[in-house]
Amino acid sequence: MVKDIDIVLRPEEMNDGRALRRIASKKLSISSSDVSHVTVLRRSIDARRRDIKINERVRVYAGEDPVPEHPFVFPSVHSSPSAVVAGAGPAGLFAALTLIENGIRPIILERGKDVHSRRIDTAALSRDGKLNPESNYAFGEGGAGAYSDGKLYTRSLKRGDAGKILRLLVQHGADESILYDSHPHIGSDRLPKIIENIRNTIISSGGEVRFSSRVTGLMRKGDEVTGAVLESGEEISGPVILATGHSAKDVYSFLADNGFSIEAKSTAVGVRLEQPQALIDSIQYHSEKRSPFLPPASYSFKVQVGGRGVYSFCMCPGGSVVPASTEEGLLVINGMSPASRRGRWANSGMITEIRKEEIAGDDPFRVLRYIESIERSSFIPGFIAPAERMTDFCYDRPSGTLPDSTYRPGLSASRLDDILPPVVVSSLRQGFLAFSDMTRGRFLTEEGTVIACETRTSSPIRILRDGSMRQGRGLYPAGEGAGYAGGIVSAAIDGTEAALCLRRDLNG
Ligand SMILES: Cc1cc2nc3c(=O)[nH]c(=O)nc-3n(C[C@H](O)[C@H](O)[C@H](O)COP(=O)(O)OP(=O)(O)OC[C@H]3O[C@@H](n4cnc5c(N)ncnc54)[C@H](O)[C@@H]3O)c2cc1C
Repeated sequence: MVKDIDIVLRPEEMNDGRALRRIASKKLSISSSDVSHVTVLRRSIDARRRDIKINERVRVYAGEDPVPEHPFVFPSVHSSPSAVVAGAGPAGLFAALTLIENGIRPIILERGKDVHSRRIDTAALSRDGKLNPESNYAFGEGGAGAYSDGKLYTRSLKRGDAGKILRLLVQHGADESILYDSHPHIGSDRLPKIIENIRNTIISSGGEVRFSSRVTGLMRKGDEVTGAVLESGEEISGPVILATGHSAKDVYSFLADNGFSIEAKSTAVGVRLEQPQALIDSIQYHSEKRSPFLPPASYSFKVQVGGRGVYSFCMCPGGSVVPASTEEGLLVINGMSPASRRGRWANSGMITEIRKEEIAGDDPFRVLRYIESIERSSFIPGFIAPAERMTDFCYDRPSGTLPDSTYRPGLSASRLDDILPPVVVSSLRQGFLAFSDMTRGRFLTEEGTVIACETRTSSPIRILRDGSMRQGRGLYPAGEGAGYAGGIVSAAIDGTEAALCLRRDLNG
């Protein structure tokens, strides 16, 4: 017998195989010894009440064993037709895997370094405030996803096969729990090895991965894109999947200069809020101390302020705040957390919508310039970040001192009203007060630090596509930088879909 059932567990029963068998067999009115295997299909934590429950959908096997999942097979493409993939972020890497599955040889061109060498540059930025503009938290193998939090939650389920992306990540080393957790998460400490494994699959199948290979232009024959040009002048032939992310401003410039269609895109900007993880645990789990059986708590807030959405974004329990700049003179921050999420601090982006219609003109670069002006005002040499206590920010008064922070380049007590646009300040203030009301006043805390600025939440530019995934013949803009995805899984789905479109075009 094989049967899928819903069960409810106590936190301490969550990872206890014996308890799982006992509860499942009771529900099916069979003996526990008849249960040969229980597989978790879905898990979520219901923390709405003090009595926290774990809801699971499980598949129970009695007298039978699960059929093992077959791994995805990647055929040899050593002598197959080639396609160029610009960018080795989630969109580019999953595009490359899909090309291989479909008998096409990917040549990945990545401006940054391999995922391990990159770490030396991100460490130098955090420790010494020294930025390598080609190797940082945005640029290099794995893209912005490499040292990210690795949260794999996506809303873009309708656009592609998110389940396949997760199964491919497991095949390359991610923990199986990402297949059933309602909020799957890998962790910034585990992602680099998974990315290296994906690279090895690509290379052993016959694909090519070239680092320090910045694409500076596209080759064209008439209307058709026939390849990519590298900074060195070398030309690499083939249709091009352009998956260069939202920080590759040079790519937007060469597209605009050469008559490709791009347009301004609405986005969201704000700050990162850092608070003690123990506070978030106690708010979300309704007790002074988190049960050792429960993971560090996260949150998701959203409110409308004067017709404008204010919301939390990319919340990192037990994580740290990092400098995610790609240029000297512009500061942008982000957050990440390791797999254990055991750090003392929780951080989250707190952002508000900025619609492209609010920025005067019709220049496709206008939202990008708006973002740059905030990043310029936020910049302090050494990538020190301006910050205010959460309470001082909300009550419009200067901060004499700041709480401890995980942001390694350091914080400088500043008035964020002087740095952020007034509409952003007032929306965030009202948003924080509303979030505090939702938590009986507990969310607004002296121990919270508001750090500027979080601006690269999505692309400020869209690279237009026709009804399908291409712009003209031979060019397939994909991922976050093209303006069609946001986050690791949705970028990976978009890269996959671009590769499938390219395959259809090649097959005529
Ligand atoms: C610190 C941090 C934490 C994050 N946490 C999460 C999270 O937990 N969950 C989540 O879903 N998302 C998270 N994100 C966002 C997520 O990483 C991005 O949405 C995702 O990586 C976008 O994928 P992409 O492939 O479209 O672009 P990117 O990841 O930006 O990759 C683009 C790649 O193109 C390369 N490139 C750029 N220009 C060129 C060029 N001219 N020539 C060759 N190569 C080029 C870049 O070096 C880069 O490797 C986080 C981002 C950051 C910075």
